[in-house]
Amino acid sequence: MAKSGTAAAHLLLDSGIQVRINDLKANKTDAEVQALLSKGAEVITGSHPLEVLDDVDLMVKNPGIPYNNPLVEEAGNRDIPVITEVELAGRIHEGPLVAVTGSNGKTTTTTLIHKMIKADRKPVAVAGNIGKVACEVARTTGHDETMVIELSSFQLLGTQTFKPDISVWLNLYEAHLDYHGTLENYHQAKAKIAKFQTEEDFLVYNTDDKEIRKFLPEVKAELVPCSITERTEGAWVDEKWVYFKDEPIIKREDIVLVGEHNLANIIAAVAAVKLNGVTNEAIFEVLTTFSGVEHRLQFIEKKQGRYIYNDSKATNILATSYALRSFQKPVILLAGGLDRGNSFDTLIPFLTHVKTMVLFGETANLLEAAGKEAGVNDIVKVSSMDEAVEKAFELSLPDEVILLSPACASWDQYRTFEERGNMFIEAVHKLK
Ligand code: ADP
Repeated sequence: MAKSGTAAAHLLLDSGIQVRINDLKANKTDAEVQALLSKGAEVITGSHPLEVLDDVDLMVKNPGIPYNNPLVEEAGNRDIPVITEVELAGRIHEGPLVAVTGSNGKTTTTTLIHKMIKADRKPVAVAGNIGKVACEVARTTGHDETMVIELSSFQLLGTQTFKPDISVWLNLYEAHLDYHGTLENYHQAKAKIAKFQTEEDFLVYNTDDKEIRKFLPEVKAELVPCSITERTEGAWVDEKWVYFKDEPIIKREDIVLVGEHNLANIIAAVAAVKLNGVTNEAIFEVLTTFSGVEHRLQFIEKKQGRYIYNDSKATNILATSYALRSFQKPVILLAGGLDRGNSFDTLIPFLTHVKTMVLFGETANLLEAAGKEAGVNDIVKVSSMDEAVEKAFELSLPDEVILLSPACASWDQYRTFEERGNMFIEAVHKLK
């Protein structure tokens, strides 16, 4: 009865279907449980008795519950189909479906697509990591309303017929091997974004990614390639413009979002919405105003000539290296956090145009060593975010970049990366 289970139960109950809910932890006095009971659901808590399956036609499994859970195995023995929340949402939602997956950039690209369709004044709803889960969205979408959905490999793994009209596949890195076991399994899970698509659907994909290209021979949907390095039949860029097919869509200098990785996200979003019939005006409106999803290389403000960015979501070296590659101007980098025993050696090549490092948290000394190795002139260590921001401002000049991109998790000093980012923004606003 976490977020997705509760949403699935409501969606089914609203469709007039009888629902039995089983959860180890939920408490019958909880308001959430009460709301479902009052709609006629049966709620069984505290254990997973096999009788839960008696007279059941369909099981909706929370993505967190493994397939070797005894109840799930018993469902298999009794030939009860087991589906997931996303699969259910996909079956009930009647309007167009746009789904985004990839190892990185999902939230940013999903947000861009949603905003562009909305700017075109078409009915659209968004489901994903930030915001509502798919079943909650599917409860209210109309038959002409587009659902834009961000999907992780975990969610894709359990799909059986899930068939987006437009799928977007951004990239494919080695990640989440602990859950999926092997890289092969992880890749197969991601490939399900296109598996059930047919000839009338589209797969928008990053053709710069070699791993994705390996899957294309199996895809039935029409292929729409995107590249930031070469001209394609889909979306592409040259030094000045973003194109879809042969049409120039927007000048690169008019785009607010920074970073090459974001350019890859942008062209994928442009391809998806052009296929959805969105106008160039709507695309322009979004790309000239949208300054990033919160805490993801998000532009905060220009203060006395300094460009200030919050990239608190950068909890590893790779993310911080993307952020650093996004700027040509001198950077004042605020970094540090939880020590996971990593070395920061791989960050060294990216520190070349970092002018000053303001360091905090458990990894301050390790980052200092990396900075010295890279030849960073000024390195200071501080103990609070307020102090970090004040120091960064003091040591910066107009036309330079002040960037929070910690390269570490936040848990040594903050509850979440969001809290860390918000404290950064607050400290920026407090600056005189
Ligand atoms: P996700 O939802 O997949 O976690 P986000 O859009 O939230 O992705 O971005 C998270 C981080 O991933 C960003 O701060 C950035 O460092 C990195 N990132 C974003 N887009 C890309 C991309 N296309 N390629 C590589 N890294 C990216």
